[in-house]
Amino acid sequence: MIYLDQAATTKLSDRARVAMEPFLREEYGNPSAVYELGEKAKEAMEESRAIIAGAVHCRPDQIIFTSGGTESDNWVLQNGAERGKLILTSTIEHHAILNPCKQLQSSGARVCYIPTDRKGRVNLRLLKENIEPGNTLISVMFANNEVGTIEPIEQIGEIAKKNQAELHTDAVQAFCHVPIDVEKMNLDYFSASGHKFHGPKGVGFLYVRFPENFKPMIYGGEQERGYRAGTENVAGIVGMGAAVKEQMETIMERIRKEQQLRNYLADRIFREIPRCRINGTRENRLPGNLNLYIEGIEGAAMVVLMGNDGICISAGSACASGSEGPSHVLKALGQSDYEAYSAIRLTLDATNTKEEIDRTVECLKRNVERVRKIKEL
Ligand code: PLP
Repeated sequence: MIYLDQAATTKLSDRARVAMEPFLREEYGNPSAVYELGEKAKEAMEESRAIIAGAVHCRPDQIIFTSGGTESDNWVLQNGAERGKLILTSTIEHHAILNPCKQLQSSGARVCYIPTDRKGRVNLRLLKENIEPGNTLISVMFANNEVGTIEPIEQIGEIAKKNQAELHTDAVQAFCHVPIDVEKMNLDYFSASGHKFHGPKGVGFLYVRFPENFKPMIYGGEQERGYRAGTENVAGIVGMGAAVKEQMETIMERIRKEQQLRNYLADRIFREIPRCRINGTRENRLPGNLNLYIEGIEGAAMVVLMGNDGICISAGSACASGSEGPSHVLKALGQSDYEAYSAIRLTLDATNTKEEIDRTVECLKRNVERVRKIKEL
């Protein structure tokens, strides 16, 4: 099997698994308990928090563990809406942002969706024009999960600062894949998810600049200093911390390797498969992402054909497959339904090899030719 759907999820790394194992077995204490078994669990959790804080240059108490990206995103938006903030977001956000926004609108919240250009970059002029100084929560994703476009977050941070707006970024696709610095980028909140960087599923975190002003979403016990009640997913948190440590040790060399591998893949495809082009942008793109329009194919059918050859790819985002309609991201980039249905996404990382890429190109070439021939009949 060749796995080129790394944006959907990643394999748990050996280091993360080994770090987790004791907490699934003998170290099963409840971190709220005051005897040694509980204290060990608590210590391991706090070590994870410190690793994450170090990776993004914040204080450990600004990191709150959650069940993943969706929860972190929902939480920030709910807080903003409850405080009467205007929510400014983009048209290409993940459904973990768009659907809670829709829900909050139905109960009276004000949400404004800023469009992007054809490359997926948010229109900064419109963003500026729509801010209500002192009363806005901006939520713009760090990098798009379908086309991989990296948003100009540092510039958005400056705009937010000038207008006393709060800034949240959904960094689920970006964290551990490109450097993030909460101070440099002027972030008030950011969401991340363990399973996107070789950590476990069902665990993530939210960075909150001023936790003292932040309201819980789930009420109950005093876990996470009362911000998020419920016995913690200790093994998951420990595994996520170990994955962050591992990924951060090699981030720059992984970026270089992923870019090289992705560019090699793109160059071969453009040379050997006629009538296809890139969706999104060549610059400011996640290093492992390649999203293509291939004329005469249907993305969903290509996923099945490639799957039959043992190659895992995606037609859009994993979360969108199974849902009706063309990708909202490609539509927001100005594409027709036909173009949006003719897209495939290949996402690789440093665990992939050149041999895998070569086999993928051969299979893709054969499958595209087959489909195009059938269509001509
Ligand atoms: N935000 C983005 C950009 C994503 O890509 C995803 C998952 O694909 C999520 C949020 C949801 O994260 P989780 O699966 O941890 O809930």
